[in-house]
Amino acid sequence: MAGERQGKGRRMVRMMALLAASLGGSSVGTAQTRPAQAMPQPPSRPNIAPLPRVTTPRLYVIDCGYLTTNRPEAFGLTRDEVADSNMPVTCYLVIHPKGVLLYDTGLSDLLVGRPAYEHSVFGWGQIKMRSLRGELADIGLAPEDITYLALSHGHFDHVGNANMFAGSTWLTPRAEYADMFEKGATFSLADYAALAHSRKILYDGDHDVFGDGTVILKATPGHTPGHQSLYVKLAHTGGVILSGDLYHYEEELTKDRMPERERHSGTPESRRALADFAARTHSQLWIGHSTAFFRNARKSPAWYD
Ligand SMILES: [Zn+2]
Repeated sequence: MAGERQGKGRRMVRMMALLAASLGGSSVGTAQTRPAQAMPQPPSRPNIAPLPRVTTPRLYVIDCGYLTTNRPEAFGLTRDEVADSNMPVTCYLVIHPKGVLLYDTGLSDLLVGRPAYEHSVFGWGQIKMRSLRGELADIGLAPEDITYLALSHGHFDHVGNANMFAGSTWLTPRAEYADMFEKGATFSLADYAALAHSRKILYDGDHDVFGDGTVILKATPGHTPGHQSLYVKLAHTGGVILSGDLYHYEEELTKDRMPERERHSGTPESRRALADFAARTHSQLWIGHSTAFFRNARKSPAWYD
């Protein structure tokens, strides 16, 4: 695990300092007498760990904020039926031998440390403890290292930091692109406006990100016209499907509920198709807004492979 490795590294540094002290020197003295050419080079990307190299895909679950709400009725559930009406906001990162994909950008980093009431949206309180930029740095990535950006859809809790990745290639279903840019301004437009100038790959249906079947954006319209989920085939964990907002609460899955308007916008069909795909590929379904899922998930900078 990355955390373990870093822990070992720190222990090693401490041991070397203790060793230097016990030999009659100190780490400061050692540095002063070291020849100039042996001085460590300043990192080209300060505060960022080295970029991991992988031979099979690696998946990171990233804390991208938290939404407080007490209205599960909007998703066809009563307050008594849900274990927790609040929602974690999850971003996911995939490091593949051929590049890096970020799936969703969460709540805006500008909210970090601010109280929920300052930026509540339609009764949703937004809480953000950690920045996405910092979470990526812990993994060893700067925003410019992200090869591909994909958004499950264009809603505010998924696009909050999208502008940060305008230098990446944006993978977007044509229908979602139209919804975000061509059908009039949405209230979160300012959070993703820079994507208008990004390199883009527009498509209908599924999109195989690296061309080898291990990372596939799955068309799951309904919540929005071009909503997409993400399938990742991991060497040890097996298939994982990140369902975006096809589900919010786990109880939507177990009790077959959904927002009323989605009954006729494609969500039932998308849920059935994705469940069939999950059964065929023996994949787990991960619901990013589920408190139970997020609490138990192995979180970044640890990873699944
Ligand atoms: Zn959402």
